[in-house]
Amino acid sequence: MSATELSTRPAIPGMAANVPPIYLDNQASTRVDPRVVEAMLPYFTEHFGNPPSTSHAYGRIAAAAIDEARAAVAALIHADPREIVFTSGATEANNLAIKGAAHFARTYAQGGRVRDHIVTLTTEHKCVLESCAQLERDGFAVTYLPVEPNGLVALDRLEAALTSRTLLVSVMAAHNEIGVVQPLAEIGAMCRARGVLFHTDAAQAAGKIPLDVEAIQADLMSISGHKVYGPKGVGVLYVRRRPRARLLPLIDGGGQERGLRSGTLPTPLCVGLGCAATIAAAEMTEEARRLRQLRDRLYQGLARRVPGLSLNGDAQHRLPGNLNLSFPGIEAPALIEACPSIAISTGSACTSARIEPSYVLRALGLSEAISNSAIRIGIGRFNTAAEIDFAVDALAAAAARLGDK
Ligand SMILES: *Cc1c(COP(=O)(O)O)cnc(C)c1O
Repeated sequence: MSATELSTRPAIPGMAANVPPIYLDNQASTRVDPRVVEAMLPYFTEHFGNPPSTSHAYGRIAAAAIDEARAAVAALIHADPREIVFTSGATEANNLAIKGAAHFARTYAQGGRVRDHIVTLTTEHKCVLESCAQLERDGFAVTYLPVEPNGLVALDRLEAALTSRTLLVSVMAAHNEIGVVQPLAEIGAMCRARGVLFHTDAAQAAGKIPLDVEAIQADLMSISGHKVYGPKGVGVLYVRRRPRARLLPLIDGGGQERGLRSGTLPTPLCVGLGCAATIAAAEMTEEARRLRQLRDRLYQGLARRVPGLSLNGDAQHRLPGNLNLSFPGIEAPALIEACPSIAISTGSACTSARIEPSYVLRALGLSEAISNSAIRIGIGRFNTAAEIDFAVDALAAAAARLGDK
């Protein structure tokens, strides 16, 4: 998007004209918090050393900064810093968790007991589904479980899918498209009781809802920097030490990150993610309360003015700032185009360029028409009540116009 495109929003009463569209796509990415930018800057310039080069101050300063960032991310999810592996993002963390566990199990199968079966949901992020598909091509077995109409997994169905060969269950913590939060503690307990590894993609959940790797008994958890007001290009895989979750690395080299992820760590990005984690830990409760209020204000405002408006995904078990809404009889791309003053999307950033209906919404059992009329609204840290009211007006007016046609 060009800079001129970013200055097309008409005036909001009481707000300046010629400002960028209101950003309501915080599930696709978040603005880096200014405090995070501030924390990162010195590590691009004077503190540029390579973290393991501890024979001099440059390396030692970088290494200390990495240690601090690792501890901050660990604290956010109640982990030990030694359980934190920095990656390039949640895509890599998910690949490492799923492929790494599968290939370790196959390579080091104990006493002929092979665990070569993985269970996941049809609504998982593409990087989980495609990692599983790759494992199927490599001879592993994968069960893709359907979800209930509210987007949640039925625990009895999950339990029925587990066999003596099941190695790993991968279930997203909070959904990027429909915002639903899965019953993580129940899933973790079920997996632990059967010696099955539990991986959760927490890219959307981390920093937004409380996450405790002990309480939910997760063995592997993926986090992304740019979903928590941190930078793009960095993420984390939490890898449990007791009982140990064992992985084969995807990348070989200098043996960084306990051999699980070779390559020089991007110190500024790690520092940014650490700072973002510290802010989230301190402000999450209050921020969630505020975002829930804004979300309810937006939903109630729209529901009053848009006949037949429907909410996709469970109403209770969902992220504070997320709404996925269907406007009956209106195609989502037309609605989005009719509202250039707000930045929203139909859902997954990876697939919204295509005009096929969302596989996630179809998995809820929604008709093609309802799926095609759904928009995702992601309210975030920097949104205000005035912006929410503006968005209600813009969407309701556009829906009325389009509905008349
Ligand atoms: C954004 C996202 C990813 C991918 O994360 P990157 O850091 O962009 O690779 C994976 N899973 C979920 C649920 C996401 O929201």
